[in-house]
Amino acid sequence: MAQINENFIKIPATYLFSEIAKRVSQHKEQHPEASIIRMGIGDVSLPLPDASVDALIKAAEEQRSESTFRGYGPEQGYSFLREAIVENDFTSKGIHVEIDEVFVSDGAKSDTGNIGDIFDFNNRVAITDPSYPVYVDTNAMAGRAGEPTKTGEWTNLIYLACNEANGFVPELPIEVVDLVYLCYPNNPTGTTLTKEQLTVWVDYARENQVIILFDAAYEAFITEDNVPHSIYEIEGAREVAIEFRSFSKTAGFTGTRCGYTVVPKELMGYSENGDPVSINKLWNRRQCTKFNGTSYVVQRAAEATYSQEGKKQVKALIDFYTENARIIREGLIKAGYTIYGGVNAPYVWAKAPKGMTSWGYFDYLLNEKNIVTTPGAGFGASGEGYVRFSAFGSRENTIEAMKRLEI
Ligand code: PLP
Repeated sequence: MAQINENFIKIPATYLFSEIAKRVSQHKEQHPEASIIRMGIGDVSLPLPDASVDALIKAAEEQRSESTFRGYGPEQGYSFLREAIVENDFTSKGIHVEIDEVFVSDGAKSDTGNIGDIFDFNNRVAITDPSYPVYVDTNAMAGRAGEPTKTGEWTNLIYLACNEANGFVPELPIEVVDLVYLCYPNNPTGTTLTKEQLTVWVDYARENQVIILFDAAYEAFITEDNVPHSIYEIEGAREVAIEFRSFSKTAGFTGTRCGYTVVPKELMGYSENGDPVSINKLWNRRQCTKFNGTSYVVQRAAEATYSQEGKKQVKALIDFYTENARIIREGLIKAGYTIYGGVNAPYVWAKAPKGMTSWGYFDYLLNEKNIVTTPGAGFGASGEGYVRFSAFGSRENTIEAMKRLEI
């Protein structure tokens, strides 16, 4: 009899997006004439940059001929892409990252989810709350999260509340912790940490032999100077942090799939008897065993984002969404709402009017304004009382949605 991993059935069904879909379709049934604007999505709406599409086509043509055909590639990614990443995302910005510290993948969801493979079941894990659900659910699948409580929290996870009271800056945990997930710019709150605030975490990790799992999927949206683009801008971070990046939101690769993870060679974990073990070597071992590389054509498309034309086109995409975020911010402020984020991120975190829950505010926006958002409670207990507006929609819909909120 094949026994299943019981941890999988402890995870509550993904109630959030199915519940949103249910409420939207009920509303549509009752009001077939309503023109609904979707601002709940985390997917992009603009197409790939031309430079990437051209590179995809060229690479596909190479696959037609025996002399240029590529079969299995290196599990860690082709050196043309790893070199372009190191040069453009790090070296040119004065950040030290080496080529064999970069592992190309099919996206940050896989990497942030799979990284747990190389860490022991008994590690104590801290996660900012609210958070991207993958961190919680993959730890639950590994059995590291303990048991789910009635309120949806897990007994063994340490939740680092990010709320109005602490300015969305997580406080250092009181409990002993081994792994910490930080995501900046943050999904869902759209807030960031300054260099000083991130330094507090790096120093803490160095003093306590903690590893920081730093998700920088929204790095390209940073507009302010004092916000680090990479955790490796902070002194000593190479000893304590893994960084995850993605081409999804930066260059429209949500359907094309490419990302990468940086694992510095200084980073050590510890064996049972306390001996230091290279995390870079462990992750390499994990990838070589379970992953056969991102497709050649996709890596060529990712490489093209770093060409002169590619950079201009990527910048245009980011500028477009950043302007949407500005329109949302200003629209919500004008309508009298308290909001956070949206300056260095494509998400605006809006506080529900007094006395309203996340779902209450969601229903109000849907029923009265025909606007779909994402209820904050779906991202963790500290998300209660907020909804997330996404800036990834069309300009027309973004402007129209804010008009509907005018008083
Ligand atoms: N990390 C965060 C914080 C995200 O919000 C997302 C996607 O929404 C991802 C990672 C996943 O990125 P990818 O498309 O590269 O898998």
